[in-house]
Amino acid sequence: MQGKLELMMGPMRSNKTAELLRRADMRRQYAKQYVMILKPSDDTKGGAGVVESRNPNGGGKMSALAFNSANPWEVLDAIRDTEQQIGKRVECIAIDEGQFVDELFVFTRYLLDADHDVLVAGLDLDFRALPFGEMLNLSWLVNAYGGSITECMAYCSCGARALYSQRLIDGKPAPYDSPIKVPGDAYEPRCAEHFILPGKPH
Ligand SMILES: [Zn+2]
Repeated sequence: MQGKLELMMGPMRSNKTAELLRRADMRRQYAKQYVMILKPSDDTKGGAGVVESRNPNGGGKMSALAFNSANPWEVLDAIRDTEQQIGKRVECIAIDEGQFVDELFVFTRYLLDADHDVLVAGLDLDFRALPFGEMLNLSWLVNAYGGSITECMAYCSCGARALYSQRLIDGKPAPYDSPIKVPGDAYEPRCAEHFILPGKPH
């Protein structure tokens, strides 16, 4: 048996996380499945651990397992431990912020082959409008294993559909070669006409 993959992609503020949590909640409530929510983090030392994650829609909290984004494989131990604890399989694994996860393609394929349904939410493009991590590669797995791809919608302040995540540093459009981490940077969804990327080479 193999799992199926539900992919939720879009720019900033397209409600990806809310959609992920909604689906996780529905599986728990109606399908009586055990759903494990995973959150990649840069700063988990000493293995994966449970964190409280705010549900931006319901205002409620949901517990998620934080793991080192550089090593998703450490999650396999947590899945095994959980299955021993609850005395049954973990039917579904929900991964938020998938764009940050190293080896996301191989890790997701491994989970699908191990008969877990997988939900992945994440950004499709980074602020340079380039593919972000391995998110876009996952569409191949939807073809191969079945499931669905949801393009989460966001809107530019002009009212048009926003496909881009505009990065702003001190309120100004961030240049193409700006550093990955800048304190105080912000993002907003923009349409093609209003997306500005100073210094874009091509
Ligand atoms: Zn616009």
